[in-house]
Parts: sequence; structure tokens; C-alpha cells
Amino acid sequence: MRVPDATRTLRAGFLASAERFPQRPALEVDGETVSYAALRDRAASLAATLAKHDAGEAAAPLTAVFGQRSSCVFAGVLASLLRGHGYVPLNPGFPVDRTRQMLERSGCRALIVDAHGLRHLEDVVRDFPVSLLLLLPDEDDVSDLAKSLPQHTLLGRDALLPAAAWESAPVDEDAVAYLLFTSGSTGIPKGVKVAHRNVVAFVDAMVERYQIDENDRFSQTFDLTFDLSVFDMFVAWERGACLCVPTQAQKMLPQKYVEQSHLTIWFSVPSTGVLMKRLRMLKPGLYPSLRFSLFCGEALPVEVVEAFAAAAPASTVENLYGPTELTIACTLYRWDPERSPAECELGVVPIGDPYPGMEVLVVDEELREVAPGETGELLMTGPQLTPGYLDDPEKTAAAFVVPPGRECTFYRTGDRVRRSDGAAPMVYLGRVDNQIKIQGYRVELGEIESVVREEAGVDVAIALGWPRTGAGSAEGVVAFVQAGDLDTTGIQERARARLPNYMAPREVRCLAELPLNPNGKVDRKALLEILAAAKA
Ligand code: AMP
Repeated sequence: MRVPDATRTLRAGFLASAERFPQRPALEVDGETVSYAALRDRAASLAATLAKHDAGEAAAPLTAVFGQRSSCVFAGVLASLLRGHGYVPLNPGFPVDRTRQMLERSGCRALIVDAHGLRHLEDVVRDFPVSLLLLLPDEDDVSDLAKSLPQHTLLGRDALLPAAAWESAPVDEDAVAYLLFTSGSTGIPKGVKVAHRNVVAFVDAMVERYQIDENDRFSQTFDLTFDLSVFDMFVAWERGACLCVPTQAQKMLPQKYVEQSHLTIWFSVPSTGVLMKRLRMLKPGLYPSLRFSLFCGEALPVEVVEAFAAAAPASTVENLYGPTELTIACTLYRWDPERSPAECELGVVPIGDPYPGMEVLVVDEELREVAPGETGELLMTGPQLTPGYLDDPEKTAAAFVVPPGRECTFYRTGDRVRRSDGAAPMVYLGRVDNQIKIQGYRVELGEIESVVREEAGVDVAIALGWPRTGAGSAEGVVAFVQAGDLDTTGIQERARARLPNYMAPREVRCLAELPLNPNGKVDRKALLEILAAAKA
């Protein structure tokens, strides 16, 4: 793998591919095929319009993109970058208040909105504290909406400037390329700023490792609010490949989608593989077109890899590992059917070796390096280390640390790992805290607890991942509150209105006394045993 070229920014690869392969498909979405030239022109037109109307240098150098699975949102992501901004994805599937909070905190003054985003737009921006520029490139007539949102500037398709009006201005490689919000343990999502320099290092490593070229066809299984989507878009566009975006309905039928789209690169969370296995979509030899089958985002069960490797016999299977703060993925492990089964632990695949230039440190609670072969928390540093959280020096200082005896900053992943000094790969053993993965999404149980506490009006609420699906992963959430009798259905409904679907408790239970462990803390294990006993 090549050492990253430090002078590029995220849009450079796409622009170079648009020069080299103007007529090749950059994007297939919802029955529409968009060529590189057409996608560049749409993005350039939006970028020129943004530059004319957004608040110029006074605003945060970020533009929000509100939508999903449409050519408009992908053009919007690129438009933000051509404007010289970072992009902030907003998810129409999230509760309106959460989206509004993210928009407010990001400091964005402009939003690019597709038809999905449009359905929720009024609720998100009505009475917003500042005036916004709202670009609706798929709408011919925005006059009615403009009347009901007089505080904002709305521009439809007719008001967009031509692509030729776009003027390229240089972008600093330390500027933010995208801002993503992840679950926060104190109840407020954390904004992770990812710089161009970070993501260029990642993309360079990936195109080189997988030898991507213009004949490749990438899956796109992730929402744009999940950083793994950055791999799909920018690794594909770096080398002129095509991004094949399934509609929400096609996403439910992955077998048909892989076959009909002739995918060569598959990338999903392991949960999708689990689902495919359960639905018998991993029969041997089913996916001959795949060159690589890649998984990331949560512990990868051995059975999923074995079944996927058989279903895609021409593909190499890899397990990628990494938190958003270290830019998408920062270690990886190649599956070898002969050697790997003996290297797995707790039924999950090892997370392997660091990306080029990334350094691993396994530490104890005092952040001192543990001896090889001992378990500890994984810390990492290198070109993919992001600059920290948006407007939150306290959380940044807690997670981005200089360990004793070291000179540079490392990110504390909160993941428990073991690395030996021999040939054995690094293995993932779970979390040191209460973060879990639900269907691949990162969830701080503390964030759910703070919502349930407020909605139930109680002092103590405990959320647990349940049913458990593996090391640190679960299918959903169950919450316990310390109380006699409460309207648990009402609590559940109000919590659902405030949290994304995957975080909303499936059940809220009252217990007059929550069990305590010898340290006087709520005994989560005992609560899990209550759930397990109820299931048995
Ligand atoms: P996110 O920031 O949403 O990408 O979540 C990052 C967290 O997901 C990591 O800190 C791990 O706990 C978990 N994770 C990601 N990839 C893997 C993997 N391959 N194996 C085990 N856990 C993983």
C-alpha cells in the first residue's frame, strides 16, 4: 500500500475520474444511471448556486445534505465539496428534533434537500434560529413552500446556476471533509470532524489494496449518516468505478441486488451477512461476480464469513475494523479458510493489522502499554486520527490522549483487544464501556438511559442490548426503570419519538429495586440474566 499523498482533498479523485471517464457510470440509483460527466455537472451547478447564495465566509464551512438513496443526495455530497465545504449528512429516518439539533450544532447555513428530506423539511427548519439557504434541485415549483417558510431562502431547479458558473477554489487538507454525529453517553450526540487529510489517507490505502478500476461496481448498503458510506462513494469514485445504490426495497432483497447489479465489491455490516444467511441467501456459488466481500462495523461471526466465502467463491473476504474517530477503518484481516478458523476467538474473526502509517498501542487502565499477549484497550494514532469532537474540548480531551511516555496523541477506542508478539493477529474481545452495536449502528446505552430517565421521570434507568447477537452486538434494546408501576407503553412511545428506530427500547420494564453488584452499581449482568430467564 502506498503512503498517502498529503496534498489532495476528498473531491480530487472524483474530479480526476470525471476527466478520465466522462461517459462511464458513476452512479446507479432508483433506475437512473448517472455518468461521471453528468454527476460532476450536477454537483458543479449546485456548488455554484451555493457559492452565490450561502453566507460566504461568515458561515461555518459546512453544507448539510438532507435525504437518502437519490441521485440528488450524492450530487449534494459532491456539491458541498466542490463548494469548498465539508458535508453534513442528515437522515430523513431520524426523529425531527434530533436532526434539527444536529443541523443547529453543525453551524451549517445551507441544505441540499431531496424528495425524502422534503417530507420532513418544514418540521426541521420552521422557527430555526437563523436563516438558511434551502436548495431543492428536484423541485420545479417551490413557491408554496417558500411562503410557509418566509425566514429562509428556497431555490428550486429553475434557480440553479449552470455548471460552468462553478469556480474552483483551493481547500485546505486540514479542513473538515465531513461531520458525522455518533451516539453520546451523556445523552447528546457527538459531532466527529473528519479532515480531508484523514480520509484521503484511508481512500489511498483502499484503492491500492483492492486494485480498484473503472470496471468495479460497488455496493452501497449504508445510510450516509454512517461513515462506512464514505468507503463506497469515494473509493469507487477515486478510480472511475460505479456506485450501485439499492432502493430501500431492493436493500431488503440483497441476493437480487448483488446479482442484478453485477457487483464486484460487497461492503456491509456483519448483521446484513447474518440476515442473508438466515434467509438462505448465501448458497454456495451464488455470487460469482464479487472480487471482494468486505465487512466492518461490528464483530464478524465466523459462520457468516464461511458462508459468504462459499457464496462468493471468487472473492477475497476481509474484516475491517475502526471507529468513526479513526476514519472509517484502521485495521484489517484477510480471511484464509485454512489458517483463519484457528485464529478466531469468541466465535468472531480477528481484526488484524493496522492500515499504512497507523500505529497500535494496547494499554491498561493507566494507559500504560501491556505486555504482548495480554488484554487491554486499543489506542491508535496515525494519518487517520481525526482532529476531535465539534465544540467539545472536554470529550475530545478524554478520548484523544497522549499516553505516558509518548509524544503524540492517540485515540482511545474503548475496544478490548489482544495482540501477541508472534504471528497471531490482533483479536477483538468486546468493549470496556457501555457502548454497543445494534444492527451495526453505534449506540451509547447511556444516551438511551438519559432519554428513558426523562420520559419516565425516574432517577435510575438502565438500557441493555437485547437479544444479544455476539461480542458487543445486539438486535435491539430493552430498558429497566427503578419504579413501582408506570405507564411503560407511554414511556416507550415518547422515547421512540426522540431516538432513531434502532435505539428505541423494544420494551420498558419496571423493577421496584434494581439489583446491585458488590460495588453498589446496578448489576447489568443480573438484569441480562432476568431477560435470559424470561426467554427460556
Ligand atoms: P463506528 O464509529 O460506528 O464505526 O463504531 C466503531 C466501533 O464499532 C468500534 O469501536 C468497535 O467497537 C466496533 N467495530 C467496528 N468494526 C469492528 C470489527 N470488525 N470487529 C469488532 N468490532 C468492530
